[in-house]
Amino acid sequence: IFITVEGGEGAGKTTLIDRLSHMIRQKGIPVLTTREPGGIPIAEQIRSVILDSRNQAMDGKTEALLYAAARRQHLTEKVQPALDEGYVVICDRFVDSSLAYQGYARGLGMDEVWAINRFAIGGLMPSLTLYMDIAPEVGLMRVREASLQENREINRLDLEKLSFHERVRDGYLQLVKQYPDRIVKIDADRPFDEVLNEAAGVISGRCAG
Ligand code: C5P
Ligand code: MG
Repeated sequence: IFITVEGGEGAGKTTLIDRLSHMIRQKGIPVLTTREPGGIPIAEQIRSVILDSRNQAMDGKTEALLYAAARRQHLTEKVQPALDEGYVVICDRFVDSSLAYQGYARGLGMDEVWAINRFAIGGLMPSLTLYMDIAPEVGLMRVREASLQENREINRLDLEKLSFHERVRDGYLQLVKQYPDRIVKIDADRPFDEVLNEAAGVISGRCAG
């Protein structure tokens, strides 16, 4: 079973995945948790190319292609083999991140970004995607609180960030409407245990354990 977790900054994806995998493992079911680009060297190298270029001006389509390339390698080298061995694979971000960030928020177009990703993933889609929905103000505040140094007044850069993350959220919400059978929206702006309970319930409901 292939499950992906999506959402903006500070939505709590990583914590949720840690706790969910622990719960599933306790039932005696083998679980692999991973994140894009995953702990594989080729995908990490691609990722560092994307991140290094953040200061320069990487073309948006180049960026989208690199994410798709890293995704492909991660999928063939790590995710697919684990699925073949019967693991539940829970992945922190997948194709919906590209659709929301590059396709929608950066304006490349969801159809265009979907086209290159369809080529990259060759038909392997998650059977379930948990979308952790949170207002960007709340999510970014969580991130800021986690890194104490950035406890300052909101400057222009933060405001730009905020509108970008509003667009990311709009992109995700559009995907939730478009793929209601695959994507389940979870309100992430609640006490963590409530979020965890809901997510666990969705998984056992949809995936029968
Ligand atoms: O939240 P996480 O640590 O997984 O994301 C790292 C960063 O990578 C995010 O801040 C996001 O802006 C960026 N990202 C992106 N496009 C993607 C995936 C991630 O811009 N497709
Ligand atoms: Mg994270």
